[in-house]
Amino acid sequence: MGLDIEKIRGLFPVLHQEVHGKPLVYFDNAATTQKPQAVLDALTNYYQHDNSNIHRGAHALADRATRYFEETREAIQHFINAREAAEVIFTKGTTEGINLVASTFRRKFVEKGDEIIISTLEHHSNIVPWQMLCEEKGAILKVIPINEAGEILFEEFEKLLSPKTKLVSIVHASNALGTINPVKQVIDAAHAVGAKVLLDGAQSSSHLNIDVQELDCDFFAFSAHKLYGPTGLGCLYGKREVFETMPPYQGGGEMIKEVTFEKTTYNEIPFKFEAGTPNIGDVIAFKAAIDFINELGKDAIRAHEDELLSYANEQLSQIKGFLPVGTAKEKVSVLSFNINAMHPYDVGMMLDANGIAVRTGHHCTQPLMKRLGLEGTVRASFSVYNSKSEIDKLAEGLSRIARIKN
Ligand code: PLP
Repeated sequence: MGLDIEKIRGLFPVLHQEVHGKPLVYFDNAATTQKPQAVLDALTNYYQHDNSNIHRGAHALADRATRYFEETREAIQHFINAREAAEVIFTKGTTEGINLVASTFRRKFVEKGDEIIISTLEHHSNIVPWQMLCEEKGAILKVIPINEAGEILFEEFEKLLSPKTKLVSIVHASNALGTINPVKQVIDAAHAVGAKVLLDGAQSSSHLNIDVQELDCDFFAFSAHKLYGPTGLGCLYGKREVFETMPPYQGGGEMIKEVTFEKTTYNEIPFKFEAGTPNIGDVIAFKAAIDFINELGKDAIRAHEDELLSYANEQLSQIKGFLPVGTAKEKVSVLSFNINAMHPYDVGMMLDANGIAVRTGHHCTQPLMKRLGLEGTVRASFSVYNSKSEIDKLAEGLSRIARIKN
């Protein structure tokens, strides 16, 4: 049986408002998802009843806060099927997870002449940290090319691999085009030359079932705010044996076992990578978001989002001047397009006047836009609380906009 979308919408207070006198249609989910009431309640509840610092407190509030905090870690462990909760580190988001790995690799594992591989589809946060590393160490950044549909060219990737490849860092699902990369194949090929693999799971984590053991990735980074959770919070999964060989990211409280002025010994994972007081309230509230997803089931969520994507493709294709961008066979529910020669920003502003929220521009993927010969796109990205009737409104709005130019 399909999901009860009206009931799900009822759980999201922010959806029930008017924008410019029109009911809000929120199609900017790839940028950030809305939060169900349970997440808002968990956050308030924490500050009203449990607010305390965690892990070392000798009192009831510290015990409770610590327990709830670690319960989220366990929920994430199961959500991505990590072997143990200690393999999940809390970060500020995908960006910090990638920077953590880049920083530790820069200090310990990468030498002059070594190679890092990324793809043309990457978000800036999976490009710039590697450029910084390469610049500093004299390492070389190699980029997997793509075809016109926005799919990586796997044979070209295989040619880039060599014993010099230290790490392959690739997006699991593209935020700009929706392309789902063949990451299992990428991981197996990279491991065959001894390279480690980081998956940027910022988009895939909300749409696809994630099983890090089956994928066999070394790292998986994602952000809570794209999973109906709070902003400024994310997780970095890493294999225990890999994390244990890595130096700490930042120094401070929590990450130490013993400090003397002569020498410090570091804590076990995950604490070794969690210096300072973490974002306790948001971590605790994130569990409510994971529970929300688990209750609906990832398969049911994906089925609904796939249906929305194909319905949107059908409806929008009928509009004269509709130019889809990114037509990969395997996609998450992201629809990038342009309308004739109109500037994406103008299209976005006109949709906003109709209460429809989309994102426009380069989507933090400037090299990808350059490869496609575009300044940017209009991006409608669908989530579990979106409906076909909202897509009808998008199609109507776009038809009117397209007529201006036709
Ligand atoms: N990678 C991808 C594919 C993304 O879509 C995003 C956010 O849009 C990021 C990385 C960065 O995520 P955050 O800003 O939450 O760190």
